Amino acid sequence: FQVVEGEKLRKKLHNTILELKGNIRVFCRVRPLLPDENTGTDTVVSFPTSTEALGRDIELSQSAGQKYNFTFDKVFDQEASQRDVFVEISQLVQSALDGYKVCIFAYGQTGSGKTYTMMGRPDAPDLKGLIPRSLEQIFQTSQSLKDQGWKYTMQASILEIYNETIRDLLSYARKENGASSSKQYTIKHDANGNTHVSDLTIKDVCSADEISSLLQQAAQSRSVGRTQMNEQSSRSHFVFTLRISGKNENTEQQVQGVLNLIDLAGSERLSRSGAMGDRLKETQAINKSLSSLSDVIFALGGKKEEHIPFRNSKLTYLLQPCLGGDSKTLMFVNISPDQSSTSESLCSLRFAARVNACEIGIPRRQT
Ligand code: ADP
Repeated sequence: FQVVEGEKLRKKLHNTILELKGNIRVFCRVRPLLPDENTGTDTVVSFPTSTEALGRDIELSQSAGQKYNFTFDKVFDQEASQRDVFVEISQLVQSALDGYKVCIFAYGQTGSGKTYTMMGRPDAPDLKGLIPRSLEQIFQTSQSLKDQGWKYTMQASILEIYNETIRDLLSYARKENGASSSKQYTIKHDANGNTHVSDLTIKDVCSADEISSLLQQAAQSRSVGRTQMNEQSSRSHFVFTLRISGKNENTEQQVQGVLNLIDLAGSERLSRSGAMGDRLKETQAINKSLSSLSDVIFALGGKKEEHIPFRNSKLTYLLQPCLGGDSKTLMFVNISPDQSSTSESLCSLRFAARVNACEIGIPRRQT
């Protein structure tokens, strides 16, 4: 009886939080200046209302003296550690074990700290990013819930989307000459809201260590792709997905959660990258998929019943069941503090502010 009541209470608490705040959050993270960056007198980013590593406001100053203020759910300054950031998302990660569909994105220009935030430096325990920390927590909690009768099975897949083409990062390394890149992966959604990508490698996983070796394999596949295609990893979206099925042997209750952790391609605009040829094609594909993602978020957050353009990009179509409805989305907007990035930072902050203004809480017609 106690277990059932405890579960009910937990769900109710989640739902109440959802109703109160909508289910999309935006966190902003500013990375420190790197050794070779301009450390001159003009600091372009400041934190008006906070003296600590965590606040809600950020101010960007342009050289002409113009200032722009933004407020987000959380703002992490240069001092914020990987642990400080993880503490703020651990509840959200936990909700995947309760049966929610969760997406955590990192958005920002190349070099702004997306990969550092998501993956961190796996070799240094203190510098581990959100992906390894989330997975460790998921496995630890699933073990501790065993006492209450919960049994979980988990499956992981890792892919990237480059030029609107899916690459399976768990099979790529095994193929010679990157043969798998020519494979056409088709995405289908079933009536239960599960996503199926044809031929995608799906691994049963039982521990965080197992996933960490899959992540290593994926990183290796990514770098193979990079040299073959003369491409930077920052030009593709990296999508880690963990499907979680749980059953309580005492209560017969079942849950199906999904945790998607996504390191998006760099958001820099065309003019800055000076793109031509293949680079131009890449940049256009990135722009298209990032703007499709924002179109979907804005449409989901709209007040009217309207068409949600999930099919406009591979990324949004892949994530369709995990965006909107009672799913939960968190977007990190990563910011470089150096002066040369001011205009890109402003674009990222404006984009993030629009996302922050969205409240997605009502299931909508999906097309
Ligand atoms: P992106 O993935 O957005 O292209 P990276 O994560 O590769 O950017 O970060 C660019 C550089 O900045 C890397 O050298 C990374 O180690 C460093 N960096 C990013 N964020 C931080 C941080 N919060 N603290 C220390 N170094 C950081």
